[in-house]
Amino acid sequence: MMKYSLQQLLLDIFFPSYCPHCQKAIPGRLLLCEACDRELYAPRFWKPDEESGSHLDGIFRFYHYEGGIKAALHGLKYSKREEYLSRIGEEVLFHRKDLPAFLQDSSAVFALIPTDPTRRAERGYDIPEAIFEPLCRALDLPKKSLLTRTRATRPQYGLSRQERQENMAECFAVADGVPAPATVILGDDICTTRSTLESAAGTLKKAGVKRIYGLVLASGHD
Ligand SMILES: [Zn+2]
Repeated sequence: MMKYSLQQLLLDIFFPSYCPHCQKAIPGRLLLCEACDRELYAPRFWKPDEESGSHLDGIFRFYHYEGGIKAALHGLKYSKREEYLSRIGEEVLFHRKDLPAFLQDSSAVFALIPTDPTRRAERGYDIPEAIFEPLCRALDLPKKSLLTRTRATRPQYGLSRQERQENMAECFAVADGVPAPATVILGDDICTTRSTLESAAGTLKKAGVKRIYGLVLASGHD
């Protein structure tokens, strides 16, 4: 039976949600309309080539970084579209049936890629946290603040691959007094060149973490 409460029905009538891409009114509190979801939802697990010097044991993404996903992240980053915060988390939770096996590793600890503190303060919210909070709660996945930022970084948007790597190099440190877990799942919003995930994973491997997986809302890979 579909869980659709009277409260939700009234919310839909008086405060409808709109798809960030096609602006269609959508029922419930998901992020995308059905058509946009069908077009963009592309769950994929892959293992980066070891010859590329990757520190990651695998990456899972939910969506293509296009259309409504791109519009929602852009809106959250640059236009304070706070109405997307809870909906983006609900959208990820909605797709939990397709999750990768690494999320069932009982020794795994979930850690967010820390947002640049200045940008987080400007926005008043944290985007990766909003994306994964409902999922972590539903899976009972322990969350730890494992990483901190050692310095400010520029926004990655518009930078070349090499500039991104330089921008993110050595920008993370393991938080004081946190023992290294055997397996860490790193949560972030987007993965394009992997520079951010690799920088964080390199820091964690040096600290003794054995296995590191990336969990991202969207990526530009096919
Ligand atoms: Zn749509």
